Amino acid sequence: MENKKEMRNWLDELKLIHPLVIAGPCSAETEDQVLKIAHDLKDTDVSVYRAGIWKPRTRPGMFEGVGAIGLKWLEKVKKETGLLIAIEVANASHVKLALEYDIDILWIGARSTVSPFIVQEIADALNGTEKIVLVKNPVNPDLSLWLGGIERLYTANIKKLGVIHRGFSTYEKSKYRNNPEWQLPIELQNRFPDLPLICDPSHIAGRRDILQDISQTALDLNFDGLMIETHIDPDNAWSDAAQQITPKTLVQLMDDLKIRKVTNEEADYKNKLNTLRTQIDVIDHGLLDNLGKRMKVAIEIGGLKKLKNVAVLQTKRWNEILGKMILEGEQKGLSEEFVLRMFKAIHQESINHQEKVINSK
Ligand code: PEP
Ligand code: MN
Repeated sequence: MENKKEMRNWLDELKLIHPLVIAGPCSAETEDQVLKIAHDLKDTDVSVYRAGIWKPRTRPGMFEGVGAIGLKWLEKVKKETGLLIAIEVANASHVKLALEYDIDILWIGARSTVSPFIVQEIADALNGTEKIVLVKNPVNPDLSLWLGGIERLYTANIKKLGVIHRGFSTYEKSKYRNNPEWQLPIELQNRFPDLPLICDPSHIAGRRDILQDISQTALDLNFDGLMIETHIDPDNAWSDAAQQITPKTLVQLMDDLKIRKVTNEEADYKNKLNTLRTQIDVIDHGLLDNLGKRMKVAIEIGGLKKLKNVAVLQTKRWNEILGKMILEGEQKGLSEEFVLRMFKAIHQESINHQEKVINSK
């Protein structure tokens, strides 16, 4: 797929406030809940109201959404507040109903993007639509699968497109519900600068206290918008209670965001510089994270060597690693001297840790 300017036109034509903010509950629960949240969001910088009508749940037996009745409530929201309406669709019958009820934005959820069959079914049901369609990243960090979803829609003559970054699932526990892996949306943005890119900090975080930081990182990386789950009574929400915030907290979050507007040459330069610096920060965090992981493995090796009474320094293995890394580094434009110095420092740190393990009682 090549970069297509027309994918972005809807965002410019709608002339919405920048960044585009999509807010509303994880799930539509009752008519009263849906309308109350919408009215609280009405006179804020929020442009689009979201609510899940059919909910994909990890385990059966949990609340799976109110179904089609919720569409009537959303119709009322649109009439009473003028907000645009967004819902998730996961099959052709959802699409049919969403079109009947004139939903403005349809998104494909992370669990659907992983399945080319489902995405194709949705694309066929939407063929030629004027509606805006957003594709969430698949649950696994696979950029081609994500782009494959966009391609299927574009091929079905759907031109108002965009993507939502909601993080990626991992086996390892981390502070995130879904790891952001920022390098993926960064790469997507570099390859498709005209594809509107929206961040969903709620599903990345899984908790309230880090929403602000994630949102700011997204804006610093030049994202076009944010989708944030908002509920009048977050703690008692029927799904995703830990990550939802009240409309009031959302307004505060938006006020605290540093939004970098491009107003002149100088601002453009600063904006670009800031985006690049944030990319560097993301990469540096990743470097430290990986070095920390490497040390943990080295410590385990230290334990094994202690058990078998083997020397810490294994010169043959070390020379093999170095040889390979110098070659690989060269391919990535890194000088031999730099690779040597860097790995010597890493190796020394590993040896220090292993010595500690081996000499412990
Ligand atoms: C949601 O937006 O409520 C949702 C189910 O998200 P995801 O597809 O990202 O898990
Ligand atoms: Mn949710």
